[in-house]
Amino acid sequence: MTTKATSYLTHFRNIGIAAHIDAGKTTTTERILYYTGRTHNIGEVHDGAATMDWMEQERERGITITAAATTAKWKHSATGEEYTVNIIDTPGHVDFTIEVERSMRVLDGAVAVFDSSQGVEPQSETVWRQADRYGVPRIAFSNKMDKTGASFELVLSDIRERLGAIPAPIQYPMGQEGDFKGIIDLVRMKAHTYNNDLGDDITVSEIPEQYMDKVREMRAQLIEAAAEVDEAVMMKFLEGEEPTVEEMVLALRKGTVEKRIFPVLCGSALKNKGVQLLLDAVVDYLPSPLEVPAIRGTIEDSEETRDFPADPEGKLAALAFKIMADPYVGRLTFVRIYSGTLSSGSYVFNASKGKRERVGRLLRMHANSREDVTELRAGELGAVIGLKDAGTGNTLIGDGDDKVLLESIDVPEPVIKL
Ligand code: GDP
Repeated sequence: MTTKATSYLTHFRNIGIAAHIDAGKTTTTERILYYTGRTHNIGEVHDGAATMDWMEQERERGITITAAATTAKWKHSATGEEYTVNIIDTPGHVDFTIEVERSMRVLDGAVAVFDSSQGVEPQSETVWRQADRYGVPRIAFSNKMDKTGASFELVLSDIRERLGAIPAPIQYPMGQEGDFKGIIDLVRMKAHTYNNDLGDDITVSEIPEQYMDKVREMRAQLIEAAAEVDEAVMMKFLEGEEPTVEEMVLALRKGTVEKRIFPVLCGSALKNKGVQLLLDAVVDYLPSPLEVPAIRGTIEDSEETRDFPADPEGKLAALAFKIMADPYVGRLTFVRIYSGTLSSGSYVFNASKGKRERVGRLLRMHANSREDVTELRAGELGAVIGLKDAGTGNTLIGDGDDKVLLESIDVPEPVIKL
């Protein structure tokens, strides 16, 4: 439930990006960080070369690749509202299965990136099943629409057949492979055309006539999928009326959270602005921390459980999900705060280790900067400096509170599957 204290959370998204190796996870993540960072951290940059330079610099500094959770801001292109998007690094590919599983516990939604010339590959299937197990709402991004062999239909049919899921294509590509020219938004019914190969200049217009037959067919399917989860859309569907954009978004979002349908987007992360609609879709279709089930904890030496809904005024319940050694500040413990507020300088109790520890500095990690903050509230992610004993999967609670262990996958460091 949204209250005054929790209202900020409606504009929070905690997401992961998962993909088969080579499908474009790194490129997609970098573009997202570039576009979200551009508006807030590094000012306007106009040409594609600048995008690349920025990304090269970031790669050298290793920030985009190594921060376990990066905080970005995104203004929705259609509504103009600003959102905080925390991108949680789902560890690379299949080797770190346990780490992937742990990160699933920390995120509220995920973007599954597919290579549209390959369809759904085996590793994607593995990660998809892990996300199923943790009930993680997802949207799918059919990347590399510009590549030889690209086929949006292949990705849609693979989602249906290999993953046994219902795809809800919310976009349609204008051209494929070398002819890929842009995206049709099937919800807002607009065409987004790239004016150059770099994709950093886009014209938004009415849908060109040549695509209308296909668009009508795809949209009818989409409305049908939305109608299955939402009564307002169902009523309109039965009456042969068009639902509004808001009704469609709401219905599809509900479908994502209820895990029956998965919005599917298409595009190319290599086009500089190729991820903007993806960011809009993250905001539209993935849930806020208020919309996912509360994390559950077990009270020590008992069978009794307690739920911790996202509320900054509740009891502190946080999970350490990644430890990193930083050359400048030493040990960084990445945490997700589920409930309560973690303050710098306070004492917390590590319920997994049975130890009281002092919280030193708190950091919010951005793509190209670190921000010292005095507190991290429920729903937020960040890094703690100063915890000596916390390990991955450990539960942190308030000093003096009932000893509770959050459900997590409490396994030592990465288990590498050979
Ligand atoms: P990851 O292994 O999933 O992180 O994949 P990367 O982001 O490293 O991408 C793998 C390769 O695919 C790189 O050479 C990228 O330049 C390329 N790539 C990524 N996105 C696209 C795309 O949209 N179109 C094309 N043609 N290549 C892409």
